[in-house]
Amino acid sequence: AKNAGKNKVQMFSGSLAQQLGERNEIEYGLGHALQRQELMLYYQPQINMQHGNISALEALIRWQHPERGLIPPDQFIPVAEETGHIFAIGEWVLQTACKKIKAMQTEWGYLVPIAVNVSPIQFLRGNLVETVQRVLRQERVPPHLITLEVTENARFKDEAMFTRTLEQLKRLGVCIAIDDFGIGYSNMAYLKNYPIDELKIDKAFVQDLEQSVTNGNILLALINLGKSLHKSVTAEGIENEYQHRFLLHSGCDVGQGYYYSKPLSDEALAQFMREQRPK
Ligand code: C2E
Ligand code: CA
Ligand code: CA
Ligand code: CA
Repeated sequence: AKNAGKNKVQMFSGSLAQQLGERNEIEYGLGHALQRQELMLYYQPQINMQHGNISALEALIRWQHPERGLIPPDQFIPVAEETGHIFAIGEWVLQTACKKIKAMQTEWGYLVPIAVNVSPIQFLRGNLVETVQRVLRQERVPPHLITLEVTENARFKDEAMFTRTLEQLKRLGVCIAIDDFGIGYSNMAYLKNYPIDELKIDKAFVQDLEQSVTNGNILLALINLGKSLHKSVTAEGIENEYQHRFLLHSGCDVGQGYYYSKPLSDEALAQFMREQRPK
């Protein structure tokens, strides 16, 4: 029995060591991932539910690691937030999204807005407003073509700073979306006082939809709340026809999810756009 206990401890410390090793590797690698051009953006189409066409793209970061392959953001963004790498990465994301808007305009002749995710750390501590203004100017992209997606976590951490940043960003002319909306169980009354353009309902609500009528009612309530505040409402994580139809008939404005398209590499996006375009 004593031995078994010992083995358990060893197994645990072994996996912990492995985790720490991975974490160190990620932390170390992040230091030069940018210079070595290992980071890339995938783009997931957002669909105008009434008309069925693309209304925008969401930029989603990936790390093409030389040894580990494609690393999803959940595995390195939290580390980047702790180490401060998030500031350089965030600027790169915005700059790359702006260049993509220009490239799409040149290639296909129309302007597709892009939504980028902004970490609460960037939102509250960095010189986000100056950075956004500078990058938009450098890249010559009209501000209304960029949506910044931020979660309510930023507001919980520092409400005064959250408000200030929001107002300054609005003055710049960029759009603001509240990402993962609904999971904060917050006092939603604050929404009417903020210059927020869009509510992005968390995919958990969409994915629970088929399990009970209550879940459907919660989703409806979130959509109606958004509509009554005159916000654009986006639902993410739409994976099937049932979810699509429910949201369409509930008055949701924009849909995003595997049902329409998964996040696409540059090449896959070009293919997608070719298929979309009327001949
Ligand atoms: P998010 O902003 O809530 O993004 C939605 C996530 O859901 C994405 O995961 C997307 O690939 C995934 N998704 C899209 N459609 C579906 C669907 O139909 N079903 C399911 N189950 N999932 C779907 P991803 O790309 O792994 O990103 C995870 C999170 O990482 C994002 O959540 C966002 O919080 C963060 N993130 C991604 N890119 C960036 C970035 O450039 N900067 C920052 N700060 N965070 C980022
Ligand atoms: Ca997002
Ligand atoms: Ca989300
Ligand atoms: Ca999320």
